[in-house]
Amino acid sequence: MNKFFGANGLLASDSELFVFRKEQLEYAKAVSKTIESEGVGIVEGGTGVGKTLGYLIPHIEYAKQFGGRILIATRTKNLQDQIFRKDLPLLKKYFDFNFALLKGRENYICRGRLKEALERSELFKELDYYHALKVLEDFDEKDETGDIESAYDLIAQFGKEGRMALNDVRATDDTCTSDHRNFCRHYRALRDSEKSLVIVANHHLALLWPQSFPEVRYAVFDEAHSLEDAATDLFGPIFSTALIRSRLRRLYSREKKSITILSKFSRAEIEKYGIFEIVEIIEELKILLSEFDSLTLSKKFDSEIKRRIKDQELISENWSQIVDEAKRVETAVRKLSREIFTLQKKMEKEDESNVLCEKINKSALSFEEYANYAENIFRIIPVDKSVLWYESFPDRPITYRRSPINVGPMLVENVYNKFHSVILTSATMQVSGEFSFMEERLGIISPETDNSLEESEVQKTILLDPCRRIAPLSVGHPFDYKDKVLLCLVREESENSSEPLSIAERIMEIAKLTQGRMLALFTNKLRMLEVKKNINLDGIDVLAQYEDGSRYALVRRLKSNPNTVLLGTRSFWEGIDVPGENLSVVVIEKIPFTSPGEPLYDARCEGVGKDWFMRYALPTALLTLRQGFGRLIRKEDDSGIVVILNPGKKSYISKILRTLPECKKIDANFESVLAEIKEWWAK
Ligand code: SF4
Repeated sequence: MNKFFGANGLLASDSELFVFRKEQLEYAKAVSKTIESEGVGIVEGGTGVGKTLGYLIPHIEYAKQFGGRILIATRTKNLQDQIFRKDLPLLKKYFDFNFALLKGRENYICRGRLKEALERSELFKELDYYHALKVLEDFDEKDETGDIESAYDLIAQFGKEGRMALNDVRATDDTCTSDHRNFCRHYRALRDSEKSLVIVANHHLALLWPQSFPEVRYAVFDEAHSLEDAATDLFGPIFSTALIRSRLRRLYSREKKSITILSKFSRAEIEKYGIFEIVEIIEELKILLSEFDSLTLSKKFDSEIKRRIKDQELISENWSQIVDEAKRVETAVRKLSREIFTLQKKMEKEDESNVLCEKINKSALSFEEYANYAENIFRIIPVDKSVLWYESFPDRPITYRRSPINVGPMLVENVYNKFHSVILTSATMQVSGEFSFMEERLGIISPETDNSLEESEVQKTILLDPCRRIAPLSVGHPFDYKDKVLLCLVREESENSSEPLSIAERIMEIAKLTQGRMLALFTNKLRMLEVKKNINLDGIDVLAQYEDGSRYALVRRLKSNPNTVLLGTRSFWEGIDVPGENLSVVVIEKIPFTSPGEPLYDARCEGVGKDWFMRYALPTALLTLRQGFGRLIRKEDDSGIVVILNPGKKSYISKILRTLPECKKIDANFESVLAEIKEWWAK
């Protein structure tokens, strides 16, 4: 690795911008060792280490010599773009290789659906729907990435009709018939991937990695601190009437301008294949879905709710009514699936269009899958390995989920055992100097069992072969935080210190000194918005997530105007990247413990046993805290202040401090902290 990363290595001699970092060299060596040992290992590297090159080069070198393809998976699109547009092109200088960026099909517009939608809407040219389709057509031809997310702003002007147009042209598994493959962005990316040594994708796609995708030998999960969330999302059934309705809309709709699978049949074919019967089942199913919704929505939630369905609720009258309704839905969905399969068989006998047959088959499969999900969620008695819960947003159908409490066994089976080697990396993989928490959560080591748990409660897990585990390593970070960061722990005597008004006052005092340049991080949306209401600053823009624009737009405003205070909740604790002085202060409202009542959190705390606070609650909070802290220093010459307003009990302050990089600290009341900030800022 010295050849590349050494002080006189290739990178140093080829680029004046390259700075030799011993941490990067150590990082690359650790990656190299994991690949050579066919292992699974965590390698942590702080901001500025140069992790991306640190894992790309050892992988490409090894793969060039021994063969095999490399998969790089990240959580965020930003990082995927950075790797694809900046880091990989740079390496073309040293290696002859191809690379590709692969996204899930639903990230693209389907040329086939777009063509059909346009043909059909020729009759409705005066409608916004038609104009939205034309905008999408233009976008698909011209946009370099073709990523449908980039089209959201373009069609926002068409409101509901625009959203409908977008749904009608989005590429989906059940409507894809593989025609127009030559122009299809998804297939183009797949073809590029087949010819590539390195494929960049997101966590979800990497966890699924269908057999039809190009074979991969080596995997790197960057931003791996959030891999557990992605796996939790993916490895559990979901039931929502909204999802079934959206599949139904793709199959059949009374709306004339809608593109549906059944609208492809001529009158004669409708008679011949008895399609009326399918339509009848669909209409019956729609009624059942409405009945299910009216039963489950009877509580009328005004705000976003996530709630666990505990064992005692499963014997309640209310739950048994829900189960009865769900059974009716499940039966109807199964019946529909069977009828569609029958239709497919009839068509095959008649040697009808392959394309349509394929659509019919995919539709039947998707309904079968929903019926299985309904069965799994409503009819299988929960076992210790999963948690049953629901989430609800105002005026939207409830979504029911059964999520795994421990995703480790699934990662072992679907990821670690599938690849020659797996690197799990991020700037935040350890808690208070230890990796055991993350290794347990990600299934690299088996969870410590708690003697207080009954034998039946101890989860039987699929374990990683211990020989494949590579001891985790942190290479630290190249920045000297001692000179760069002032960490303030604000000790308050007053009981009101966590009230929105008090937090708003603290934020205003600090923002007046620094003229904004601030990111304030919260754990609760309502409290954050309440705080915002109480902030009043002359000449400083106060912006909040949920109220003042998308995350992307808000970050852009902070980047373009230093006199800004930006308030955000969970998703703002990570991935916000504002290098330079426009982000000089990070205010943390309190240690980011997850609220009790959050279904997965509660179930995981219980799963850990009596020591749940130290073994689950505190580590998860500290990992989030590290992420929040990490928003401040993004490049070598950055510096600034981190203020933790309510650091909580003295007993775990030492854990907090061990979690964060060593820097100048003050642990005092707000007046003293403010005086220190003033002095620091004046420097
Ligand atoms: S290959 Fe599938 S998703 Fe792509 S354009 Fe064709 S039908 Fe649509």
